[in-house]
Amino acid sequence: MRPVTKADIASCMINMSDTEIGVMTFPGLHETLWDEREFLGWRDVHHKTKGYLVFWIGDQLRGLMVRAAETQMPPGRSAICALCHTQQPAPQVSLFVAPKAGEEGYRGNTVGTYLCADLACSTLIRITPSESAAIPNVDKTLSHKSLGIRDRLENFSNRVLGLDVS
Ligand SMILES: [Zn+2]
Repeated sequence: MRPVTKADIASCMINMSDTEIGVMTFPGLHETLWDEREFLGWRDVHHKTKGYLVFWIGDQLRGLMVRAAETQMPPGRSAICALCHTQQPAPQVSLFVAPKAGEEGYRGNTVGTYLCADLACSTLIRITPSESAAIPNVDKTLSHKSLGIRDRLENFSNRVLGLDVS
């Protein structure tokens, strides 16, 4: 992805109040390997349940905040991240909810999804052997997985924005 600055991030969040943006924690942007990621995803080290996803849709930067459910899925089972489609031990996948943008969000409406708990899908798809761990016959290659993540991020953020008509 193209690099972004803290100012870029602070101005692109679609489902956060100014107060929330004021206290959000940023990742180490200087250490980020931009060429090896579809999106910037990180957990807030000071607000443990919060996480953030920031990505480009064409020339438009879009970011959203998600909250992890307090309950973990039971160990000994496996789960699949809805973004990167990697199958993993259940505790490494969390249920997250994103407050909807605008009025709907103020009323408490959210959109839920299962995601890698550390929001590091971009790293994961680069270290996971594609044959064994991914869903069979889907997302075989890295470029397929990469495109898939970007598509699904756009779709998810459209749901947060209330743009989905289906
Ligand atoms: Zn993932």
